[in-house]
Amino acid sequence: MQRFTCPFCGPRDETEFHFAAEAAKVRPEPAPEVTDAAWADHLYGTDAPKGHAREVWVHLTCGEFFVMTRNTVTRDVADTEALPGRRA
Ligand SMILES: [Zn+2]
Repeated sequence: MQRFTCPFCGPRDETEFHFAAEAAKVRPEPAPEVTDAAWADHLYGTDAPKGHAREVWVHLTCGEFFVMTRNTVTRDVADTEALPGRRA
């Protein structure tokens, strides 16, 4: 069992967290010109990098979204931080 650190609550069991999205993913714009394929890729496509990754996760217990930097191969978590504009 792995422990993740919520920036707001501290270390908690991994079962309290859920992956939300890749961090810094850019929404395609302008919306009226975005094709269905481009929108579907934005919603469901992922780069799924091997190794270092920055991802948005949610702590289900407190409902806060935050950025987790982790290694997708070793599962080591390097850092967790609140989203810009949110204070832990
Ligand atoms: Zn939390």
